[in-house]
Amino acid sequence: MSGEPQADCLFCRIVAGEIPATVVRESETTLAFRDINPQAPTHVLVVPKVHYPDAAALAGAEPALAGALLAEAGRVAEDEKVAESAGGAGYRLIFNTGAGAGQTVFHAHVHVLGGGDGLREKLV
Ligand code: AMP
Ligand code: ZN
Repeated sequence: MSGEPQADCLFCRIVAGEIPATVVRESETTLAFRDINPQAPTHVLVVPKVHYPDAAALAGAEPALAGALLAEAGRVAEDEKVAESAGGAGYRLIFNTGAGAGQTVFHAHVHVLGGGDGLREKLV
């Protein structure tokens, strides 16, 4: 089933245009849109257009696409001016993987978080 659109998947439905989202970047294979419940001044989700349940499944099946996802995350950070290369203070990429680690949408995605002071506290 991996790679195939899932009718009951929120992010597949956003990719298909069935549910609205504030899109900030789009490539042939990825979509980046603002998180509906932002946890930092910049909080953008980058997803592959095809469905995989999490980032590890994506990387295992389509490593080039996983790389493209990360590259897009970096471009989002530059566009949003949170990347040091764009004059910002830096940013954090998060892949929640598994319900016990806080994953709530089981379509691979990376959170791009930046801006404000909240990211100074290090988790690891
Ligand atoms: P995770 O908890 O890592 O699975 O991340 C899922 C994220 O999706 C959460 O941060 C939610 O706030 C976000 N989210 C849920 N519904 C929407 C939506 N319709 N548009 C944008 N972001 C959403
Ligand atoms: Zn999906």
